[in-house]
Amino acid sequence: MILAFDVGNTNMVLGTIDNGVIGSIARVHTEPKNTAAEYGIQLRQLIEYYDIDLKKIEGAIICSVVPTVTDALQEAVQRLTGLNCMAVGPGIRTGMNVRIDDPTTLAGDLVVGSVAAIAYYGTPAIVLDMDTATTMAVVDEKNCYRGGVINCVNTIKSVTKIDLYENITINADGSLKMDSNLSLLVPKHVSMMLCNYSKLKESAYSKFNSDIYYMMLALDEITEEALANYPLYRDLLIYKIDGLQNVQIQTKLQETYDITYSIEYISSLWRNKIPKLIAETAEKKWLVWHYTEEEKGVWKKCSKCGQIKLAHTKFFSKNKTSKDGYYSICKDCRNKKKGV
Ligand SMILES: [Zn+2]
Repeated sequence: MILAFDVGNTNMVLGTIDNGVIGSIARVHTEPKNTAAEYGIQLRQLIEYYDIDLKKIEGAIICSVVPTVTDALQEAVQRLTGLNCMAVGPGIRTGMNVRIDDPTTLAGDLVVGSVAAIAYYGTPAIVLDMDTATTMAVVDEKNCYRGGVINCVNTIKSVTKIDLYENITINADGSLKMDSNLSLLVPKHVSMMLCNYSKLKESAYSKFNSDIYYMMLALDEITEEALANYPLYRDLLIYKIDGLQNVQIQTKLQETYDITYSIEYISSLWRNKIPKLIAETAEKKWLVWHYTEEEKGVWKKCSKCGQIKLAHTKFFSKNKTSKDGYYSICKDCRNKKKGV
């Protein structure tokens, strides 16, 4: 019997496989900060709880998208069973040929999903895995992995879970040095990310397992949404990321929008207003996610646009005289009315 772990960003699933038969499946939260000892204790409890005979375990394997958890779990398994726990990654033999430019960049979850598709359904196959991130892979008729994409549909979930680093300084060689936490919910952090956008993108490139990769995907998605109704801000942001100076941006905006903004104003848009809009959108998305997935929220229908929104000060202004404490018309509609 082997122990098998599937570690995702949100949950991890632990199962036993005995002669190809899957049994005893347990689902627990992924806690990136847990130590090997903490995982060991949890694992021992699960093994007891599911009445698994430790002596029957001949091997263990882990597929993980959270590197810190991989290490902790491997150590825990080693201590509990005395066995080396394999981790799916470069160099592991799966019977599938990985035909991409750099096979070392291929994430473990894409490998096991594809190998399972070969075993269960045969090839050629398109393999979809809808988890915290949605992935899609293509395996050809010769069982060769030809490529895949990661599309972070449920980005906001990872945004809130991610522990990234706040104090990002640029080393002499241009690489980034980071410490402490980073969140898209904090305007200051968003501003910092926008200021270092190109460098962050570069450092996240092809690191599909890294937090920064998901963070940058989330930043892109939330920025698009936040600035959808602000074409000028969107253009300004693109100019800035392209490395234009404020003076050049001033000229560009004059040409395109026939508006003259002072250098100081352009700078304040870029450093304050735009990051604030993005952080606010992230906050709204987080609230919607939280009150959908984590907790039952109170929702109400706007009497103007008819959309159902969260009964929360981010979506409805407070009104002491109304029954539920909010205006019946949503903030968006009220702002439109006031011409804001
Ligand atoms: Zn409305």
